[in-house]
Amino acid sequence: MKLENYITGKWITGDGDGQSLYDAVTGEEIAKATTEGLDFGSILDYGRSIGNPALRRMSFHERGRMLRALATYLNERKEKFYQVSYKTGATKTDSWIDIEGGFGNLFSNASLRRKFPDLPYCTDGDPVSLSKGGNFMGHHILVPKEGVAIHINAFNFPVWGMLEKCAVNWLAGVPAVVKPATITSYLTEAVVQEIIASGILPEGALQLICGSAGDVLDHVSSQDVITFTGSKSTGLKLRSHPKVLNESVPFNMEADSLNAIVLGEDVDPGIPEWDIFIKEIRKEMTVKAGQKCTAIRRIFVPENKMEDVWKAIALSLKQTTIGNPLNEKVRMGSLAGQIQRQEVKQQVQKILASSQIVYGSLDSVEVLDADPDKGAFLSPLLLLNEKPFESTAVHEVEAFGPVSTIMPYKDLSEAIELSKKGKGSLCSTIVTANDKIAKDYVVSAGTHHGRMLVLNAECAKESTGHGSPLPMLVHGGPGRAGGGEEMGGIRGVKHYMQRVAIQGSPTSITAITRIYQQNAKGNTDGKHPFKKYFEELQIGDQIITGKKLITSEDIDRFADLSGDHFYAHLRDTDFSNTMFDKQVAHGYFIMSAAAGLFVDSYEKNPVLLNYGIDELRFTKPVYAGTEIHIRFTCKEKIPQDQKPARTAEGVQSGGDENDLPKGIVKWLVEIIDETNEPVGIATILTMVKRKP
Ligand code: NDP
Repeated sequence: MKLENYITGKWITGDGDGQSLYDAVTGEEIAKATTEGLDFGSILDYGRSIGNPALRRMSFHERGRMLRALATYLNERKEKFYQVSYKTGATKTDSWIDIEGGFGNLFSNASLRRKFPDLPYCTDGDPVSLSKGGNFMGHHILVPKEGVAIHINAFNFPVWGMLEKCAVNWLAGVPAVVKPATITSYLTEAVVQEIIASGILPEGALQLICGSAGDVLDHVSSQDVITFTGSKSTGLKLRSHPKVLNESVPFNMEADSLNAIVLGEDVDPGIPEWDIFIKEIRKEMTVKAGQKCTAIRRIFVPENKMEDVWKAIALSLKQTTIGNPLNEKVRMGSLAGQIQRQEVKQQVQKILASSQIVYGSLDSVEVLDADPDKGAFLSPLLLLNEKPFESTAVHEVEAFGPVSTIMPYKDLSEAIELSKKGKGSLCSTIVTANDKIAKDYVVSAGTHHGRMLVLNAECAKESTGHGSPLPMLVHGGPGRAGGGEEMGGIRGVKHYMQRVAIQGSPTSITAITRIYQQNAKGNTDGKHPFKKYFEELQIGDQIITGKKLITSEDIDRFADLSGDHFYAHLRDTDFSNTMFDKQVAHGYFIMSAAAGLFVDSYEKNPVLLNYGIDELRFTKPVYAGTEIHIRFTCKEKIPQDQKPARTAEGVQSGGDENDLPKGIVKWLVEIIDETNEPVGIATILTMVKRKP
């Protein structure tokens, strides 16, 4: 069976015999992959000219709902993917991380849409004031790039590797061309078959190449983005491709990473953190048979606890049943193929030049329900290096399998130094019940690790673990780890967008950003904005309220009512050596008095409720005798999805009657005194009904 490539809107098989792909457990050939004869230039052009305009037209909210629909669709078909995943040597748990972890990523990014406006583009950061008179200002916006995201992925996560990246470029409004590592591309193809069949993505949003990447990099342009996960040598070669350099194509690289775990000096046998440490190491060595870019490769332990620790790890590893992932008793499957097994063994030999094996064997492994020679099985290998400052291969060589090395340290400063010898990693963990140790490690070693986990009894039960990159946290690391960064919520989306600094009048910047900027022209059409439905409200709808005199009696009454008798709000305070000249009004009283001025009272109106305050600043003391008024402006509108109604059978059917169709409206409240100076400013939020 030849795998198909999904390109230029069609499923196409490449020419020639192709590369044979094998079941990692039985060694049987299961498919062939070839991209011979494909025109890579036209693949990228198709993405740019068909997929890109379709996605960039959609708003973040539409793209987010698309991700949610896709995740739901794929989740309903997950069993099919598990059956294919077992052929990669992955156990059920390994497959769950890859398959449902990938769908989880789509769901997380779907929810992330709420942090963005209902527009195809968004602002970045805060407005910048650029003039005294307030009529010239700056801001930043992010617009989707006009190219394609080219993802060149590693073999270890055929599903997650694709979806953790695509979720983000799709949310940003950019299409993808995915090139999974060839040896496990049959699983990626199975998922893409379903994605395309779903019809949920616009045409051109996803293309798949199963096999060699050919001359794809000869056709990249400055609006494209390349991401790479794999070996450092390939990454460097691709990153320095002349076309990539000439066109300044952003290149996000994730390569070898020698991740470290540290046992805090405070942890002894008998306290919970001891067992947590041992368990975490076993998990990291055996999940995916250690074929995780984040797996723990280096273990640092106080020198007087070395023997106790390695014996405990060995005992724990002994309980791991290795074999055919289809057997329920199996806890660790095989490597992805014979070539990978050979490569891991070669790498281990390099590390062994200056260390020794204290658990496992390079030559034999006991397996359940499988042939240890035909399948790519390898025993977990715990290595011991007693001189980690002198024997440095362990800090340089990555054995991409169930392999880890234990090493001693004298004090925390040594542990920090040793962790940095990896020259940059994706993640590092410290197991300690002492937060001073945790702080010292994180702050000092933080320069060399992309993510850090402080693990102890308080969080262990709920911890997502050392090895799990999470959609809302940054994944990537400095130096050897490639210097890349992906995911991380909003941060990840920005990699696929162009940041543009914009300058102009507040009125122009309001029109561009669709967020009201202070000093922009407002529209006062006479109708109170609280009388308008969500659809009717326009950014910039404004009222200037009547005036209210703040009296000493008001301040006294507010102090009594709220119980806030702070000295500055009392008439008979001696105000020498204070910030004030005399009795000053409570900030919250001024805010409440402001609401009294801008709220349109008595009659029911489309405003459903007050939802909160985003920002609130009191900029000038308000003394008794001050007269305030309010400039109240519609600042931003954020639509909300109506909850779906469910029938008795749980089937979705239209909107839930109990959940009114509505949106969030942000309002700028400028509180101004009789000298026309601002005394306070706030952004308040309300829920506003949609038209019946
Ligand atoms: P490779 O670097 O060989 O391959 C990674 C990806 O690059 C694959 O999709 C591969 O495709 C592709 N590729 C290789 N050569 C080219 C080229 N000339 N042009 C375009 N694409 C190319 O890494 P592996 O996946 O084989 O993994 C090897 C090692 O990488 C591991 O042993 C481990 O050390 C490291 N690794 C690191 C990871 C991390 O996240 N830090 C994750 C996985 C692996 P093809 O399969 O068709 O060759």
